Amino acid sequence: MTVRRTPKRSGSAARPEILVILGSSLTVIAIICIVTFLLIREHANAQQAATRSATTIAQLIDADVLRTVELYDMTLQGLIAAAQRDDLKQVSAQIRHLVLFDRSTTARYKSDVLLLDKQGDVLADSSLIDPKPGNFADREYFLAHAFNRDMGMFISRPFKARCDCDDSNEWQISFSRRVSSASGEFLGVAVASMRLAYFDQLFNSLDIGTDSTLAIINDDGVLLAQKPFLEGNSIGKSFAGRPNVVRMLREGSGSFDSVSSVDRQQRLYTFSRVGNLPLTVVVALSSDEVFAAWRRTALVISGATGVLCLALLWLTWLLCRELRLRNSAEKELEQLAATDALTGVANRRTLDQTLRHEWFRAQRSGQPLSVLMIDADHFKAFNDRHGHPAGDEALRALAEVIGTNVHRPTDLVARYGGEEFSVILAETDNDGARQIAERIREQVEQLPLEAGGEQPMTVSIGISTWTTATDISLEQLLFAADKALYQAKEGGRNRVVSA
Ligand code: GH3
Ligand code: MG
Ligand code: MG
Repeated sequence: MTVRRTPKRSGSAARPEILVILGSSLTVIAIICIVTFLLIREHANAQQAATRSATTIAQLIDADVLRTVELYDMTLQGLIAAAQRDDLKQVSAQIRHLVLFDRSTTARYKSDVLLLDKQGDVLADSSLIDPKPGNFADREYFLAHAFNRDMGMFISRPFKARCDCDDSNEWQISFSRRVSSASGEFLGVAVASMRLAYFDQLFNSLDIGTDSTLAIINDDGVLLAQKPFLEGNSIGKSFAGRPNVVRMLREGSGSFDSVSSVDRQQRLYTFSRVGNLPLTVVVALSSDEVFAAWRRTALVISGATGVLCLALLWLTWLLCRELRLRNSAEKELEQLAATDALTGVANRRTLDQTLRHEWFRAQRSGQPLSVLMIDADHFKAFNDRHGHPAGDEALRALAEVIGTNVHRPTDLVARYGGEEFSVILAETDNDGARQIAERIREQVEQLPLEAGGEQPMTVSIGISTWTTATDISLEQLLFAADKALYQAKEGGRNRVVSA
């Protein structure tokens, strides 16, 4: 048996729980956002630092290549200047050779330096006082100079020497300049070859990590040097079609992140043009290596953040559980405080509260309000006959009967005290209240007889109803119900009397 009506509660019980969940969820989201922001910033810093060091490496290579090419240019210009001196024709071949190639001794990784006439025949050779006859008129550089007087210095594609000399198996490139008469007429070409081993030596002096590469390409996308090789020795091979190379040749210098089309590895490409030469230095740092330290830090921080967030969520769960337990304990206490312990219906306190509440509601709405006062007849005698425990049992049965006849959510059954009960029937007129009272009276009479009992249990019921037509107070309403009950007792009991 429970109180027929849920006592009103202030505010929502679930609110603190929702606030705790919301608060800790927002905290977790804020922590994740802050950590993500810091990790992204650290990633950008790592990338910036790597780009800076790659740029420094590219600048070192740049400077060295520029200096070396300058030496080759000086060699060529010295050779051309000397070749045009008429007085050299009078000196011996040895002296002539010395003068012609005077400046070429300083150039590193130098192979042959040749002076060709306008037919492409060898006029002078740095390695032989009496040059071996040979014709180079078919060479790319020769044709370039023959047909373009403003070519300046020409840098060839990589090639392997045609001679049966020591360098025949080595990759080389040549630097060449046109020899012109004072009037600009084509007189021949001065050409110096350099072994590409120069770049290997240069790259070997720089440590860039195992998965990263250094490379030099010319303006046609042809590879001149690479360390280490990504797909075998690719010197002389054109990479002009590769998207990364296309971008580098287009932009001249800069840096970007991309996947290598050779080994599908993510790399940070930093590239720079060597002066105004048709050469580009490429420093491709492996992203795995660049971000290795960042990745380790990110892993530790993400792990710690994850544990922190989980701990926070776990604590939130514990707190919510505690709040739920406290909540249900409070509810239980509230229920107990509102309930009569013996019968389970509402107690006197709840009755008073509800009565006042319904009274004011009826005043506002103008709907009738009825009150039943129910008292067990000759209950003292019942107790005396059957004992108090049986009396208690009879009171519970009585409460049960009253409860089953009262259905609306706004109705309330309460124990007024002793063997007396009250029923509040909101929005119920006297006729309706009378019907309910009669049903209660009849059903109580039919309650199974106590063992050995010969008289049925009966109740007397007094009814009073407030309507807009009756100008009475709440106290008068209760008094009227009490009076009606008294009349029912006077009238012989087991009956219903309306005030
Ligand atoms: P009447 O018909 O005039 O109402 O007579 P009555 O005996 O019912 O009235 P009275 O007021 O003289 O006695 C009420 C009795 O109800 C007294 C007491 O023995 C009994 N009673 C009151 N509360 C309890 C209770 O909680 N348990 C039991 N078993 N009996 C109770
Ligand atoms: Mg009584
Ligand atoms: Mg009584």
